[in-house]
Amino acid sequence: MVKNMSRKVAVVGAGVAGLTAARSLLSEGHHVTVFEKSRDVGGTWVYDERTESDPTGLDPARSRVHGSIYHSLRANLPRPLMGFSDYPFPAGPPSGAFPSHEEVRSFIEGFARDFGLLERVRFGSEVVSVGPGPRADEWVVEVLEAEAVVVETFEAVVVCNGHHSVSRVADVPGIDKWPGKQIHSHNYRVPEPFRDQIVVLIGGATSAHDISREISVVAREVHLSLRSTDVEFSKLEGQSNIWQHSPISRVHEDGMVAFHDGSSIHADVIFYCTGYKYSFPFLKTNGIISIDDNRVGPLYQHVFPPKLAPSISFIGLPNKVIPFLMIDLQSKWIAQVLSSKVMLPPEEEMMASIKALYVKMEATGKPRHHTHMLHPYEIDYMNWLAAQVGVPPLDKWKEQMYLAVFECYSSQIDGYRDNWDDEYWNRLRLSETGL
Ligand SMILES: Cc1cc2nc3c(=O)[nH]c(=O)nc-3n(C[C@H](O)[C@H](O)[C@H](O)COP(=O)(O)OP(=O)(O)OC[C@H]3O[C@@H](n4cnc5c(N)ncnc54)[C@H](O)[C@@H]3O)c2cc1C
Repeated sequence: MVKNMSRKVAVVGAGVAGLTAARSLLSEGHHVTVFEKSRDVGGTWVYDERTESDPTGLDPARSRVHGSIYHSLRANLPRPLMGFSDYPFPAGPPSGAFPSHEEVRSFIEGFARDFGLLERVRFGSEVVSVGPGPRADEWVVEVLEAEAVVVETFEAVVVCNGHHSVSRVADVPGIDKWPGKQIHSHNYRVPEPFRDQIVVLIGGATSAHDISREISVVAREVHLSLRSTDVEFSKLEGQSNIWQHSPISRVHEDGMVAFHDGSSIHADVIFYCTGYKYSFPFLKTNGIISIDDNRVGPLYQHVFPPKLAPSISFIGLPNKVIPFLMIDLQSKWIAQVLSSKVMLPPEEEMMASIKALYVKMEATGKPRHHTHMLHPYEIDYMNWLAAQVGVPPLDKWKEQMYLAVFECYSSQIDGYRDNWDDEYWNRLRLSETGL
């Protein structure tokens, strides 16, 4: 039988990933320090009304803000998918089936309190460097605390720094000379600055859908620039001032924005809802882990770099998933691998699995920047993790609920949060679980 190993572990970040990691590591008997640069737990879910000095988030010298959520944000997943299997999200009200960001934040704070995690967090501690130590499987972590750099050595590092803070923008031909304003959704908080403006909003995912509807109440016109060149220029059904277009073909010095569908408009603002870039500015691995067109790699199952496994790991990289449930499973996996309760395959086998994924992506025409976009395999991925750590697969009713809500937001259905049939899902849950 393999001896249960207890290690000294550093966790970078006290968002939901860092806290969940800390909980799992502690329950496996590891010694845990969580470094958190802010003064709060909750990461993304701590609403910050500040924005960055460059609204596009492109200027490397800009003032930085971690948070990306806007004032009115409600989760795009219903309550049962925003909790953990053994620590459920409280049932509504106050904000209906889909909780407000304030509720999610207080849920995370309650989780941290109830599992005694706050005592493990060093607040106001920014990790500025994580690099290999003098001995194998040892990491030197440099932390900026009260304007001094503190250096500590750990046997393992779990990276949980969040992946929704560094803007990714679309290439727009002619943008350097276009005279209007530009903003990325990372720096969007409230609709008021868009009053009476003509806004071109690039992107087709959840935030583009939600923000376009919100600003359309005050803006003069909102023009959605979608990814597909097949989109025909048309007014959106049920909307008085929102149009959809194909991608932008070029913008001009006189303020005009031209689309591939042949339409063009004079716009005041270009609004990027084009997602985020992975970024680990503190990581010094001599190129063993790199980021190439938003592919972080090589990572076995999006978590362990084979060459450095298991002493360094990453939580929360996959997207188009059920984040809290997936993060919990990744945390358990890491904690159990570190205590040698669960074994990883040999390095060559992990590399072969990563290469197989890359080959499959290439064969199916999936772009590199979608490496961590799991749909339609997200449930398989979560169930694979569950099998590694010996917990049951995702409840069928939760899987069905997730697929139903995924369909709502990927088909851009308006008002799905308010029209959600909670009763139906309660009945389904009852019929499956009796609870
Ligand atoms: C607009 C928006 C809407 C979303 N909606 C949903 C939703 O409805 N449902 C859902 O489940 N998920 C949603 N998400 C995804 C959300 O990111 C995850 O739910 C979750 O918050 C990810 O947690 P995390 O811990 O990985 O990252 P974060 O929450 O970003 O936490 C990272 C933490 O690390 C800290 N940190 C970063 N760098 C350092 C460093 N160098 N040193 C020390 N500390 C550091 C940060 O201060 C932060 O506290 C949404 C995200 C966005 C941006």
